[in-house]
Parts: sequence; structure tokens; C-alpha cells
Amino acid sequence: MVPDGSPVTEVHNMKVPATIVAGLAVVLFASPATAAAGAPGAPGLGDSYYPLDGNGGYDVSHYDIRLSYQPATDLLSGTTTILARTTQDLSSLNLDFLLEVTSVRVDNAPAAFSTKDGELTVTPRAELPEGRDVTIVVRYSDNPEPYRLYGFVGWQRTPTGALGVNQPHIAPWWYPGNNHPRDKATFDVSIAVPPGVEALSNGTFLGVQQQVPGWVRWNWRSVRPQAPYLTFLAIGQYEVRFATAPNGQQLVTAYGDDLGVNGPAARASVERTPEVLDVLAGIFGPYPFEAQGGVVDTGLGFALETQTRPVYDDAFFRRGANTSVVAHELAHQWFGDSVSVDDWREIWLNEGFATSAEYLWSDHQGEGTPAEIARYTYDVIPADDDFWQVLPGDPGPENQFHDAVYDRGGMTLQALRTAVGDDAFFEIVRTWAADEQYGTATTGEFIALAERVSGQELDGLFTTWLYTRGKPAAGPDGATATRARVAVAKPKSYDRIADTHRLLTAGE
Ligand SMILES: [Zn+2]
Repeated sequence: MVPDGSPVTEVHNMKVPATIVAGLAVVLFASPATAAAGAPGAPGLGDSYYPLDGNGGYDVSHYDIRLSYQPATDLLSGTTTILARTTQDLSSLNLDFLLEVTSVRVDNAPAAFSTKDGELTVTPRAELPEGRDVTIVVRYSDNPEPYRLYGFVGWQRTPTGALGVNQPHIAPWWYPGNNHPRDKATFDVSIAVPPGVEALSNGTFLGVQQQVPGWVRWNWRSVRPQAPYLTFLAIGQYEVRFATAPNGQQLVTAYGDDLGVNGPAARASVERTPEVLDVLAGIFGPYPFEAQGGVVDTGLGFALETQTRPVYDDAFFRRGANTSVVAHELAHQWFGDSVSVDDWREIWLNEGFATSAEYLWSDHQGEGTPAEIARYTYDVIPADDDFWQVLPGDPGPENQFHDAVYDRGGMTLQALRTAVGDDAFFEIVRTWAADEQYGTATTGEFIALAERVSGQELDGLFTTWLYTRGKPAAGPDGATATRARVAVAKPKSYDRIADTHRLLTAGE
């Protein structure tokens, strides 16, 4: 199935006359026979960990989010316009959303709606036939901060504003939509804030507008398919830097005014974003997005690979510059953002690759090779440590961001590299990034690709590393524990990578 939001879908939607004709044809032929056949769209997509994430019956191609936010009161008000296409006859459909809604329109007609437990159910005046392009307009006004979803906090107020940055859930705190990586879309995010406040988001900065006294509107555009949870807002007091990267892309970095002594180290790391992206592109293939940057804030507690522009907690820079975390979040632009998990159970596909990228960046910096770091990590974790009891391939929602997902995920890829050799390994990685670009993918598909490229049977390797409790008898270099304990010294980058992972995994 072609994932929604793929370039093919977008181009098709832009052919306005053809779409209208096709829509009419569907209505003319379908109405008499199926007028009563519409059913409610499913409230979830059946994700293994979060079954109510996303919704059935439609695919979103674009979100236009126009908001205003008042930091003093946490009042978020605005309108989100959703362009979607139905994939079944619908009597009603759901959007994932927590806030209080004031009105909903479907194709310009007022629609009935109700909100319960993060599900906004919309019942249009008339049933929607399969294959119809629909426009849904949701108006709302509420305080996001108090809401919880699956027991989790999402929206965070800060001393100067707010952060709409979280994983795996954040969209329902600030815009309604189809909240699962399987339904990617393009985005326009426009947010009005009081003068002197900055409002940051993904993609290309389109400028500010001074519309009415007391409000300044910031406009951002993402033109590549983007998962809802990777769409972010950071509002507050920032030093914002606008520049052009050597490849010609817009580069927007922002640093909270309250970073204090971590500020210079944060800048010394995140300002190197174009350099790190260039190195990673040399390994993984072309950078998949249209803009670059990063945001550093206090109090976030973690870092997240928000598309085109990761957000970092300043604690990552507490011991000086940290390009490991920058390499980690930027690697996610390929693995996580462009190639996304089809099911949250397979989070290792994101974190294993991002960990591998830290190893590869270390190698590039002459601070230890992937083989050395993976082997050292394997050696220092005792066999009776709980670490080895968490399965990276299915860690459970409570362990989705456990160390094992990161470190054992990284070791898994290093074990693959050992087994298939460098040429096959990098061909697998580049093919994965290219073939699954802008979509979602599964571990099964990854194993099949690795077997096809290498010509080897690899089920045993992945079963051992992803799906078997206990410390594997041989390390990621294929050598037994006894042999290598003598041979491997601590790589220079190890402590920084380990510290980075402590912060990343403590975030959830
Ligand atoms: Zn990560």
C-alpha cells in the first residue's frame, strides 16, 4: 500500500480538475447503492502498543494549523484545516484530540462532534463516500497543559512559553488529526504570540506578520511527508539564528535565553548541524528534507528528532560540546522521520540506527570505531544485568525508550555488519533509506532486505539480538566474551555516548 502523504498522492491531489471529476463520478455511481452503507471510521489503527492512535477511514494529505498562544495563561486558540481523502464510506470519523472544540465543519457544512478520552468524533451532515476529498475545519480554544493521554504528560509550560515536543504523543495537545506515523502529511504551522516572544516549528521559515496590535504571527512550512508526532512547537524567549547551509538549505537554530553556562557548548554542537548532516548523507544517502536546524531548551528532559529541526535539552551539553547527540537526532531524519515505524513496537528501527550513527560519527572524528564501541558496550554490561532482559524488538510500551532499545539496537546493527561485511552492510542501510523513504516499514521488511542484499540467511542473528532474553554468547564482533574482554580498551567517545543515552532514555 502506498503510504499516505507520499509524493505520488500529493501530486495527484494537486490536479484539481481531475480530482473534482473523479469525485463526482464516485458520487454519481455510488450514491444510490451505498447511501446507507457508511459506517463509523475506526477510532484507532490497531497499533500494538497504542491501539487508539490514528483513525480508520481516511488519509490526511495536509494540515493547515493557525493558532494563537498566550504564555501568561497557557491559552491556545485557533483553527486547524485538514485535507483528507476517505478510504471507505463513512457515517462518522475520528480525530485524535484532547482540547475543547468550539466548532467543526466538513466540506463547509457544520458537523456534529463530541470529544472523549482523546478521540474527537465528527459526524458530518451527509455520509462521506469512499474516495472523496474532504476538508475538515476544527476550531478550538483551551489550556493544553493539564491533559494526559495514556497517563502521559505532553504539552509542557516553561518559564517563558511552552513546548509541544514529545514522543510518541504530542499532536493531540495542540492540533486534531490522524496521530500515527502511518498517516504522514505536509504542514503549514502558523502561530501568533505576543511581541518579543518567539514561536518555532518545522521546515522552512516563511516570515513573521504583525497582524493586529499585541500579536506577531510566525509562519512555518513542511513540504515533505511528516508524521504528526514529529511536528513541534517551541514558544518562548530564544536567540534565533537564520542562515544558509552550504548545500543552500535554510538553517534555523534557536537557543533559549536561559541556557546559562550550557549555552556556549550547545551552540558549539548544534551550529555544526550542516557538517554532521553532510557526513551522514555520505553514509546513508541524500538528506531527505528541505531545511535544517535545531532548538535548545531547558527543562525538556530529553532530545527529540522533530523533523528538519531537532529539539535538545541543554543538559546534553553540561560536560561541553556534544556532537554525539546531534549525530543521533540528525540520523533520525533518515531513520525515524523519513523511514518511520509502522508500529510503535518496532522502535528499535529508530533508536538502533540513531545509535549506530553515533558510532559512525565517532569513527569519523577518530574517537573509536563502531566495532570498538559496540564491543565495549557489550563487555561492560554484566550478563545478569536487567538490561539483557528487555527485548529491543518488542520492549513493551513501558520500556519503549529503555537502554536496551538503544544500545542493544546499535549492537544488533553492528552484529549485522560483522556478519555481512562492510560493503553489504552499507548497501543495506542506503537501500533501506531509499526504498522506504517518506513511508513506514517493519523489522520483517528490514530482515528481508538484509537477506536479499547479503545473500545470507539472517533469521538466527536477528532472533538472538532482538527477540531473545539474555546476553548473547558472542559479542557484536562475533567473538566470545572471554576473548575480547582482554582486547578492547575504552573508546574515547564511549563516556559521551553513554552519558547521552542516559539522558535520552531517562526522558520517558
Ligand atoms: Zn533517538
